Amino acid sequence: RFISVEGIDGAGKSTHLAWLAAWLLKKGIALQQSREPGGTSLGEKLRALLLNESMSLETEALLMFASRAQHLTEVIEPALARGEWVLCDRFSDATFAYQCGGRGLDQTKFAQLETWVQAREAGLIEPDLTLIFDVPLEVSQARMANGRVLDRFEREQHDFHARVRAAYLERAQQNPQRIRVIDANRPLEVIQAELAEIFADYE
Ligand code: C5P
Repeated sequence: RFISVEGIDGAGKSTHLAWLAAWLLKKGIALQQSREPGGTSLGEKLRALLLNESMSLETEALLMFASRAQHLTEVIEPALARGEWVLCDRFSDATFAYQCGGRGLDQTKFAQLETWVQAREAGLIEPDLTLIFDVPLEVSQARMANGRVLDRFEREQHDFHARVRAAYLERAQQNPQRIRVIDANRPLEVIQAELAEIFADYE
């Protein structure tokens, strides 16, 4: 299975992802963990560029998909072929949210890139399940203000993050079978109980 985890910056994604990975491993599931942008040696170099250099919107979108293309062929598809699970910290929904929602990339161009990079004979390769950790903007902004060093995207203004959040929720509405929105503005134990319930029947 291919699972991706998403959310606006400051939604608590990293915390929940770490908990979920540990929980799945304890269940005995063979798990390949990875992230985007990044996940391969080339991808991590692209990530450093993406997080630190200013660049045009088109360049940004293309580098996100370049990282993804490499990640798919080098890591994701081989792991799935071995029968392992892939747990990925962000995938294409992040590009929809950040580059289309946040930056204004045309959705048709996004769809073209998605087809180009993810189309296979059997259809589009995409996560079987995507979890979006969702919190109100005030919550995520307060969490981010809490001391850590911010990257180029995290330093963006409130409006940018509001558009990213709206795009995530729009994407979830368009793909209700695949995407599950998790209210991450609740106590940790409540969120963990929901995660355990979602994955209870998975072997
Ligand atoms: O998940 P993480 O916070 O480590 O992601 C790194 C940064 O890259 C985030 O600030 C996120 O906003 C940004 N990003 C992006 N577009 C993507 C994926 C990530 O702007 N498609």
